[in-house]
Order: sequence, then C-alpha cells, then structure tokens
Amino acid sequence: MAERITVESLTKVYPGGSTALSDVSLDVDPGTFLVLLGPSGSGKTTLLRSLAGIEKITSGRIALGGRTVADGKVHLPPDKRDASMVFQDFALWPHLRVRDNVAFALRRRHVARAQGRQRADEMLARVGLGHLGDRYPNELSGGEQQRVALARALIGDTGLVLCDEPLSNLDADLRERMRVEISSLVRQADATAVYITHDQSEAFALADVIGVLERGNLVQFGTPEDVYTAPA
Ligand code: ADP
Ligand code: MG
Repeated sequence: MAERITVESLTKVYPGGSTALSDVSLDVDPGTFLVLLGPSGSGKTTLLRSLAGIEKITSGRIALGGRTVADGKVHLPPDKRDASMVFQDFALWPHLRVRDNVAFALRRRHVARAQGRQRADEMLARVGLGHLGDRYPNELSGGEQQRVALARALIGDTGLVLCDEPLSNLDADLRERMRVEISSLVRQADATAVYITHDQSEAFALADVIGVLERGNLVQFGTPEDVYTAPA
C-alpha cells in the first residue's frame, strides 16, 4: 500500500562536519510521484538515503505510513522499512543471473525459491525482459540492466519506491523511453515514489510534486505548475 511520507525538520550533518540537509520538512500524500530536483551536492541523495534508512539522521523526524522510522533516538534499518531503491549504477549482483537478482528482493518476504523465480519471470516480462532471465548482468546493455533493477525494486511490492538518478547513465534517446516506462510501472505499483534528478525536463515530465533542494535547503515544494510559474 502506498505510504505517506512525513519529514520534520530533518538535519543531516556528516561526520567531519558537512551539513548535507538543514531543517528540511515535507509531507507527501500516498501514491504521489515526488521528484527531487537540485544541483550536484544539494543533498538529494542524502535525503533519499535517509528515507531508505541507509543514512542515520542527525536530528528531526521521518515517518513512513504514519510510523516513526527515524528521529533523534529511533533508527529503523533499511530492511525494517517498506521501501525499495533503484540506483544510478544499477547495483546488480554480478554473480547472480538476472532472474535471481530480481527474486533476491523476495527473500526477506520468505517466498519459496521456486515461487520467487516464477514471480521474477513475471516481473521481468512486465519490464520487457522475459527472455533474458538466464543471463548475467554483464551480458546486458545499460538500459536492460536498469530495467532489471526496476523489476527488482517493484517485485517486493513496497509502499515506497526510491530512485536515485536511475537514468543518468543511459544515453539521451534511451533515457526518454525509459522515463515513460518508469513512470507507468511505478504508477501501477500502488507506491509512493521519490525520484531524484538534476534534469529539469525529466522532473517536469514525471512529477506530481517537485521539491527543489539547494545547499541542503528545500527551497521549493509544489506542483510542476507552481514551480514553473514561480521558480524559487
Ligand atoms: P546530491 O545527491 O544532491 O548531489 P549529496 O546528498 O550526495 O548531494 O551530498 C550533499 C552534501 O553532503 C555534499 O556537500 C556532499 O559532499 C556531502 N556528503 C555526501 N555524502 C557524504 C559523506 N558520506 N561524508 C561526508 N560528506 C558527504
Ligand atoms: Mg546524488
């Protein structure tokens, strides 16, 4: 079920003293496709990793689906949050076949192996790769690898899908096609999505809501129309 995201006064200071996020607050309705836009170093990845539980926050609070997953005291690890992630570099396991890369995401759900593989094949078919389950990641093109990563993120049926510049390693042509695919697959998935990009046209093409980050501050948060007509 798609999850509400509530972030209150989130601050993240890395060891060594760099403040990646300062006092960021936002509230996202279930089922929203949120795009985080901002230049390199503005804190986008840090915010996504904080939602996923990969990064511990310094102060503030994060609630997912009404449940506090992080605050000054609580820190739920990634596998205790109902979220999945798609990375810029795909992050597939090189020693596992495509089918097993996708099925791996079901492990913690205690799905039996044979059933997991069958579901992986079904998910691969949905992303247009039904015929490639036996291959290894290094036998695929970049676009195919990113489809595998997407299949792995969606098969777990999590309420939150987090994407960190998933298309930026693909060439321009493929990027536009994959953008449409990602949008329709994620929207079918009954999930809330947070999608990072530094590409404005990508943001406007995908977003229900756009959040603009600048030097760790959320300087704008609204519909694409709002952001377009009154850019911060
Ligand atoms: P973006 O994804 O928007 O490019 P990041 O969230 O990766 O931005 O980084 C935000 C800021 O935090 C940058 O100044 C970056 O140098 C710093 N930063 C990111 N990761 C670390 C880390 N592990 N340790 C120290 N500083 C970091
Ligand atoms: Mg980043």
